Amino acid sequence: MNDLRGFKAFFFDMDGVVFNSMPVHAEAWEIVMGKHHLPFTARDCYLQEGRTGQSVIDECFVRCYGRHATDDEWQPIYKEKSALFYSHGKAPLIDGIRDLLFWLKQHPASPLIFLVTGSGMRSLLDELNEELPGIFARERMVTAFDYTHGKPDPEPYLIAYEKARATCPDLRKEECCVVENAPLGVLSGKQAGLFVAAVNTGILTEHDLLAAGADITFPNMPALHTYLQTPQPHHL
Ligand code: CA
Repeated sequence: MNDLRGFKAFFFDMDGVVFNSMPVHAEAWEIVMGKHHLPFTARDCYLQEGRTGQSVIDECFVRCYGRHATDDEWQPIYKEKSALFYSHGKAPLIDGIRDLLFWLKQHPASPLIFLVTGSGMRSLLDELNEELPGIFARERMVTAFDYTHGKPDPEPYLIAYEKARATCPDLRKEECCVVENAPLGVLSGKQAGLFVAAVNTGILTEHDLLAAGADITFPNMPALHTYLQTPQPHHL
């Protein structure tokens, strides 16, 4: 089975799509916000995934106190949350992502594989190469260093599309499949005019992802893999 459902490029988000880092983010946010008497649930964390730490804390202040958080307020909270997050060490891969990525990499149609992330870690490529050797390359990555406006703005995915067209000039937007797990990421891909497959790797509902505009949703990564391997039904 060699089908890719008409897609020539795949744009993968990272947190919650490649690495299973969201449970640790959610737990760290819940604990630290609770310590500071700010109401914040794991669901809030998943719904806001993709926003900066400052914006997450600020939104909570507005909801709770009707005013914005000052620098002296949000900075220590964010520092605490980051320390707690990093104390857990490296996140494991999402179940099924390794098989999907290596299947794509070895596919005779040679689809382009991009990483499009809000992360700004300089060690990112090394870490990715350790876990998934040869899958990603710097010229096929869009990170926080490459754009001005993060998700849900379309800019990260528009940059990925332009970079992909440098290799494949005829590439059409409908031939690009964004793989996302979070509503704001889905919104970013849709605003860029691309097809968005949402894989629900966290605690949200399928409705949360469809409401953000996802073209199709999957309960897990193997389900997306199976979909891409299944020939498209012919219209009679
Ligand atoms: Ca994500």
